[in-house]
Amino acid sequence: MQVLKTLIIGSGPAGYTAAIYAARADLEPVVYTGMEPGGQLTTTTEVDNFPGYPEGVDGPTMMIHLQKQAERFGTKVNNGFINKVEFSKNRGGIHKAFTEDGTEINTKTIIISTGASAKYLGIPSEQRLRGGGVSACAVCDGFFFKGQEVAIVGGGDTAAEEATYLAKICSKVTMLVRKDRMRASKAMQHRVLKTANIDLRYNSEIEEVLGDQVVEGVRIKNNKTNVKEEISVSGLFIAIGHKPNTDLFRGQIEMDELGYLITKNKTTHTNIPGVFASGDVQDKEYRQAVTAAGTGCMAALDAERYLQSVNDL
Ligand code: NDP
Repeated sequence: MQVLKTLIIGSGPAGYTAAIYAARADLEPVVYTGMEPGGQLTTTTEVDNFPGYPEGVDGPTMMIHLQKQAERFGTKVNNGFINKVEFSKNRGGIHKAFTEDGTEINTKTIIISTGASAKYLGIPSEQRLRGGGVSACAVCDGFFFKGQEVAIVGGGDTAAEEATYLAKICSKVTMLVRKDRMRASKAMQHRVLKTANIDLRYNSEIEEVLGDQVVEGVRIKNNKTNVKEEISVSGLFIAIGHKPNTDLFRGQIEMDELGYLITKNKTTHTNIPGVFASGDVQDKEYRQAVTAAGTGCMAALDAERYLQSVNDL
């Protein structure tokens, strides 16, 4: 059976950047795209903050560019899903991965770039207006609501951080927290409370996102008093957490209590020799396309050095 030098699982900015670097280093990478080819960026519209696109670019186009660039150097891209892995614990050992149709892949290194998925509320009006003013990334999309009124859902560190970020751009931010307290750190809560244009509402849940094509408002309900209210906003940010896509690796590789893969020091090495992690699957802090791409590059370099060190190139 053929043994690959590098298998890359996932096709977001991390996976494709890893592929570009690995292909140029003659590692002949094979990418398995996963369920959502192109990753989270394919669900966003305009990307204005990826360096090198002075006019901005829409997310799906950027992902096609990344794929083409990876293919230009010989990356093989398979539209498929890896649903089982068997890692070798030995340095220089051969790892196994299995596709959904049962094909067995043998490989000397694996770069895991399976990303994370933003959690959504799951109400139909929210799903319908994704891309029409409903976003799960304030840093990506906040700028489109410059000078306008927006709402954000969540009471964790992400929501608090994004609320203060949005407050600098938008005229008013209504922050909707479902409990009577925030889960965010005290420091972040303090920052929210001292920001004048954040209107913090506890015990508040969204019943419906209002608007036909674009967000025009939200109908909220106070879960203590049952009083309902409509608030006019042109953007709704969902910041109720992310889920790293690591179920597949559970029990085989070190992850933190939230399921994010643990990488060693400032590298992309996991606790399994020859298995590297890049992008949002190992990052709950920054979660940007450009930081994911950066760690994708690191993973390819780490894989190349690993292969050299086991004398296998
Ligand atoms: P968290 O899980 O910490 O918080 C999620 C928030 O969303 C909670 O307030 C939760 O409410 C609320 N929520 C969940 N589901 C719903 C729902 N269906 N409707 C309404 N509200 C809901 O996620 P974060 O993304 O904020 O943070 C993840 C991790 O990353 C944390 O460990 C955090 O500390 C860390 N982080 C650190 C940062 C930093 O240090 N700079 C920045 C960002 C994140 P409830 O409390 O009621 O469950």
